[in-house]
Amino acid sequence: MTESQIESGLGRDSQRIARGPAAIATWNFGKTAVETSGQILIEGGSALDAVEKGINVIELDASECSVGYGGLPNADGIVEVDAAIMDGKTHDAGSVAGLKHIKCPISVARRVMEASDHAMLVGDGALAFAITHGFQIEHLLTDESKAKWKAWLEKSSGVDLTTHDTIGLVTLDEQGNMASGCSTSGLGYKHPGRVGDSPLIGSGLYMDNDVGGAAATGLGEEILKFCPCFLTVEYMRNGYSPMDACRKTIGRILDKKPQNRKVSIALVALNRRAEFGAASTQPNFPYAIWTPQNSEVRNTKGGNLDQK
Ligand code: ASP
Repeated sequence: MTESQIESGLGRDSQRIARGPAAIATWNFGKTAVETSGQILIEGGSALDAVEKGINVIELDASECSVGYGGLPNADGIVEVDAAIMDGKTHDAGSVAGLKHIKCPISVARRVMEASDHAMLVGDGALAFAITHGFQIEHLLTDESKAKWKAWLEKSSGVDLTTHDTIGLVTLDEQGNMASGCSTSGLGYKHPGRVGDSPLIGSGLYMDNDVGGAAATGLGEEILKFCPCFLTVEYMRNGYSPMDACRKTIGRILDKKPQNRKVSIALVALNRRAEFGAASTQPNFPYAIWTPQNSEVRNTKGGNLDQK
């Protein structure tokens, strides 16, 4: 067995000591998320707790209009959220889609993973599950997002394929366990019932403790056709660094559909050696990284220009 096979996880070398803790997240708001995760990780908390709590902070921030509370509503003025979580230690996953009235969908996704026999719940069934498990029914529409929706209605300008973001987060704890998660209110003013990539395992996120994990953000209608997070982890398994793995995945997407250059698609990745990567179809995608020594926002170059 070669060193690269061992390092990429093909050898399943349980002796190998990961150099955690570490965290990476999408967008500028990811800095708050990774710093929240980092606090948990530095105190010896689990990668899974770090993902959930890091994402909760963004879900509860009313000023973020693409995630959880304060997220932009669908065309009917109702906020529908999607979220998913994956535990590298157990290779279990849970997700919710088209969920209404719950401020922290990532926590419901975790409950689906840990306390149900299922992996994914949608719509009214997901809401009933959340209520049964003690989650409060709440108003997700803030005055600000309601005003934006009303302005959109007056313009009657159709679906806006540029109004969206996701908090995607990947963590590595001191024990060498990893987790990934994502949460979004999806496309602003979407058709009711529309679901993007975020709650789909392999598309919006993926995790394998032997290798590492990835999370995606951008136009879900295109992302989910490429299973890009699964692909990125498989590139890492085959020896690519997280940066090169993200770049290869974005390259694959652009090779197959060059018109996706006009579409925002971005990936973040972290491997079990605490190495980071990110790439995007368009320039200047911001992502946040955290280690015990450092917390900062970096930017990709975009397209085929992303460099190490
Ligand atoms: N991927 C999300 C969705 O399509 C939105 C985003 O990340 O920008 O729902």
